[in-house]
Order: sequence, then structure tokens, then C-alpha cells
Amino acid sequence: MLFQDIPDTFHIKKKLLTLEKYHRLPHAQLFFGTFNSPCVSLSMALATYLHCQAKKEEDACGVCKSCQKIDRGIHPDMYYILPINSRVLYTAHHYTTTWMRLLKKNFSPSLESWATEIGAQKQLMIPKEITQKMLSNIKNLPIESDYKIFLIWCPEYFHVSMANALLKTLEEPPVHVLFFLVTHNIDQVLPTIISRAQHFHVPSFSKKNIHQILSQSYQGHPKLDQWLFMSHHDFNMTQKWLVRANAFQETFTFFHIWLRSCFKKDSAQLIKKMEEFATWTQTEQCSFFFFVLYLMKHMLHHCFNPLPASKMPADVYLFIQNFVKIVDDTQLIQMIQLLQQKYHQLQRNAQAKMLFLSLSLAIHRVLKPL
Ligand SMILES: [Zn+2]
Repeated sequence: MLFQDIPDTFHIKKKLLTLEKYHRLPHAQLFFGTFNSPCVSLSMALATYLHCQAKKEEDACGVCKSCQKIDRGIHPDMYYILPINSRVLYTAHHYTTTWMRLLKKNFSPSLESWATEIGAQKQLMIPKEITQKMLSNIKNLPIESDYKIFLIWCPEYFHVSMANALLKTLEEPPVHVLFFLVTHNIDQVLPTIISRAQHFHVPSFSKKNIHQILSQSYQGHPKLDQWLFMSHHDFNMTQKWLVRANAFQETFTFFHIWLRSCFKKDSAQLIKKMEEFATWTQTEQCSFFFFVLYLMKHMLHHCFNPLPASKMPADVYLFIQNFVKIVDDTQLIQMIQLLQQKYHQLQRNAQAKMLFLSLSLAIHRVLKPL
């Protein structure tokens, strides 16, 4: 990954390169931004630049042995601490090469896309063993480079028992060690970790850039514009629909049947949907809530200013047209608030079945107040 591969990051790149030039690069850096921002790519480009054996003034060369090793996921001084759901150690070749494969098709992977890539079924976390292994490895000198770089993606997923050991290391790491922490939920990162790193906010890409990036990979896809609109230009969600042909329709059908069941308080169907929801991974469940939130926001917009039919698939447009006839803006706002509340509970590991059922009943009460 090179800086030149990432559009619209001129200012932050310049800041990082200036710090490096004057040997003032902090030992712990926290890159934060949404999943529509190139946080991950930027930290990877900086790591590639620092390891490069023939770096140019403003970028890595992309062809030296070091650049190639990073590209193949086999650089001995590059470590990736990633949330996983098994106890396979982070040095496992499988995870590193899978991570690099994912980055080649996604400049800012979502947890859902990562979980899919590694075949994770359960909740992701950074296991204690991985942190212990990292800490024990830190004192060893780099093998081929000036630095050992530890790229920690989603530090909010650290096992809580490791926090203290980690803090001590973050405070006084050996001179040859750099930590790149990358998060999309800075509010969930321990404040003590945040306070020990220098922060770099990475702005989200513009809608135009997201469109350009996806157009390069899926040029001429007949649904690209509609799906970008449906997802409010959410890169990962749109890409998921583009990658798997039926993904959008399956999600919309699930939502459609579920909402109808909420309205009718159809117990049998609600239980069925609850059971189905519970079989998904936590990241898939969160992604569904986002989909519903996006759709509700479109409906709210439609209440005040009807959306053009060409912006979305015909069946979705028909659904929105019919639904806004039976709800008003106050009810939509209540449902959006409910979804946001349940989304946060889901992130805090609430029991999926009970959460889904209580949301369904709460939506019924909004739709059919006593
Ligand atoms: Zn190079």
C-alpha cells in the first residue's frame, strides 16, 4: 500500500512525512476515522514507507524487497494485531496473508468484511495470548528494518485484563518500536490508551471519491448508483452488495417481512426472524441495524420531500411509498431512536435474541400505539 494509492490525503500525509523527516514521529500513533475513511490504508502506507529500502521523497518505492514483503504479508518487522475469534496466534501466516488480501480490495475494511474473510462465526476480540506474545516480542531488535511496527486494528477489542500491561509498554516502548493504533470507534477505546498516543484524524472520503473507488472495481454495474444511495454512500455496505449478487435483496426481504410482522404482532413470524437473526455473527447483526437505519432515514426524508423513484430499486421505492402512508415523521423518529439504542446495546454484547424481540415489540408499540 502506497500513499499514492490513497486519494485526498495530502495534508495528513505531509504532516506524517514532516514528522518522520525531523525524527519526531511519535512512538504511538492513533489513526481514527469512520469506516469510510482510509485510516487503515494510511497507516499501512506509512509502515511501507518506513520499511522501504529505496524510499522516494514522498512515498515508498513499491518494488524493493521490503515493499514486496509487506505486500505479501511476510515482512519480519511488521506485526498485525487484529481482532479474531480463535486462539490462533497473530504471527500465523494465515491471518497476515488474509489481511493483506482483504486490503487489496478494501481500503478500509469493516469488521464484517474481515470476519467473512477469516470465516469467523463468533464475536471478534484480540485474545489475551496475542497481546502477551506481542509484549514478549517487543524487546527483540528488528530483523531487516530500523523499526518493528505493530499495527493494532480496533484496539477497543483488547482483552480487558491486558490493558495495564499494554499501557506500560505504550508509555515507554523500546526506541525501535512503533505502534500504529487504528480505530473507527474512538469513543470505545480506553481513555488511558488514547492519552498515550498522538492522534491523527483521518477524514472520510467524499461521496464522489467513494463512487470513483467502487466504479474502478465494478465499472458498469447496473445497481452501483442505487446501492450507493440506499447505503448513504457506506463503502463497506455497498461493496458487500456488489460482491454477492443476492445480498441486497436478501437483506431487504428479511427487513420487509420482519417489519410487517412487527406491525401485525405476528408472534410466529417474529420468533422465526428472531431465531434467524441470532444465527448471524455480531458484525452481521450490526450491519443489519445500519441497513434499517439508513432505510428509515430515507423514509423520513421521503415524508417531507419525496425521493425520485430512479434513486432506488423499484420494490424498495414501492415499499417506502406505501409505508409512509401509515406512519408519520414522529413515529419514524421514534423507530430510528429505538434502533440506535439497540445498536449500542448490541455492540456491548447484549443477548441477541432478547434484544431483537424487545426491539420488534417496541416497534409494534410505535406503529400501533394503545
Ligand atoms: Zn520500497
